[in-house]
Amino acid sequence: MRVLGIETSCDETAAAIVERDDQGNGRILSNVVLSQIDDHAPYGGVVPEIAARAHVEVLDRLIGQALHEAQMTLDDVDAVAATAGPGLIGGLIVGLMTGKAIAMAGQKPFYAINHLEGHALTPRLTDRIDFPYLLLLVSGGHTQMVLVKGLGDYERLGTTIDDALGEAFDKTAKLLGLPYPGGPEVEKAALLGDPDRFTLPRPLKGEERLDFSFSGLKTAVRQLATTLEPLSQTDVNDICAAFQTAVADTLDDRVSRSLMRFRQSFPNVEDPALVVAGGVAANNVLRGCLQDLCSANGFRFIAPPMALCTDNAAMIAWAGAERANRTPPDSLDVAPRSRWPLDMQSVPLIGAGR
Ligand code: ATP
Ligand code: MG
Ligand code: FE
Repeated sequence: MRVLGIETSCDETAAAIVERDDQGNGRILSNVVLSQIDDHAPYGGVVPEIAARAHVEVLDRLIGQALHEAQMTLDDVDAVAATAGPGLIGGLIVGLMTGKAIAMAGQKPFYAINHLEGHALTPRLTDRIDFPYLLLLVSGGHTQMVLVKGLGDYERLGTTIDDALGEAFDKTAKLLGLPYPGGPEVEKAALLGDPDRFTLPRPLKGEERLDFSFSGLKTAVRQLATTLEPLSQTDVNDICAAFQTAVADTLDDRVSRSLMRFRQSFPNVEDPALVVAGGVAANNVLRGCLQDLCSANGFRFIAPPMALCTDNAAMIAWAGAERANRTPPDSLDVAPRSRWPLDMQSVPLIGAGR
C-alpha cells in the first residue's frame, strides 16, 4: 500500500510517499518539505495569511516532486492522506482540498488526518514500536503528553495551560533581541552562559496534574531583562542558560510523573517507551535530560530523526497507511478544523458545524 501524504497545517508545505507492507513495515519513498521560515522571519512569527498563500503557490509542485523522487505517477498511489487539523485554517483548506481533489479524480480512498496523530504514530514508522507508549509532543504550537494506546485510541494526559514550549523559546528569544525561530538561538546562547547566575521559576513543578505552563517563565525573563537594560551579550547568554535550565527541570518533573502514570496504567508492559516529537526535540540539553530520565526509570527513549520530529508529510502518509484497510476511508465532505483534540477522533462533515 502506497500513500500520498499532504501537510499544510502551519508554516511547512510538505508532500511525501510512504509504503506500508502487510507486516506493518514502513518505508519512506520520498519526503519533501518546504519551510516558510524566511517568509515569516521579518514578522517574528507565523502570519496565517502569508502561510496560506505560500501553500497555494508551491503545493502542486511539491506533490510532483514527491512523486518524481519516489519514481511514481499518481496511478501508482493507492490512497491519499491530508492533514485536516488542527492548525491554521487557510493552510488546512489548501492541503485538504488538494488531497480530496486528487483522491476524487483518481477514485482513491481518502484519509483526513489529525496532525497530532501523525506525530503520535511516527515512531511506528521509524522504530516499529508496539502500542501502548507515551508521547511527549513539544513544538511551536503544541505541548502535550499523550498516552498512545492503539490506532485511533489516544488519551491526552496533560497539555500546556498557556504557551507552547516552542512558543516560550521563540518569545524569550524575541525579548532578548535574538532572531526567529528562537529555539536554536536560545540553545546556542545558553551554551556560552552561566546557568547559576539567575534563577527562573519552574511552573507547576511538584503538582499532581500532568499539565505544563510556560508563560510565567517568559514573564520572569521579561522582568529580568528589564532590570538589566541595556543587555550585554553575557547577560543574554546567562538568561538563556537560566531559561533552558528551568525548562529542563520543569520537563523532568512533569515527564517523570507521566512515566509513573504509565506504569500504573500498564503494569504488564515489559518494554515501556517514551517518544519525543516536535521541533523542540532538536534541543540537545532537553534530549539529554529526557534520555537520562528514561534510563533512570527503565523506559526506552525514542527520538525519531529530526526531519520526522518537525512537521512533514511522511507522518501524514504513514497515519493514512496505518488506517487503510483497518478503518473506512473518510468522506470527501470532511471539513478542516483549526481545533481538533487528539482524543476526539471523529471528523465532522462540512455543514455539520466546527
Ligand atoms: P506544530 O503545528 O506542530 O506546533 P510548528 O511549526 O510550530 O508546528 P515545529 O516545526 O515542530 O513546530 O517546531 C518549531 C519550534 O521548535 C519553534 O518554536 C522553534 O523555536 C523550536 N525549536 C527548534 N529548534 C529548537 C532548539 N534547538 N531548542 C528549542 N526549541 C527549538
Ligand atoms: Mg514549523
Ligand atoms: Fe507539528
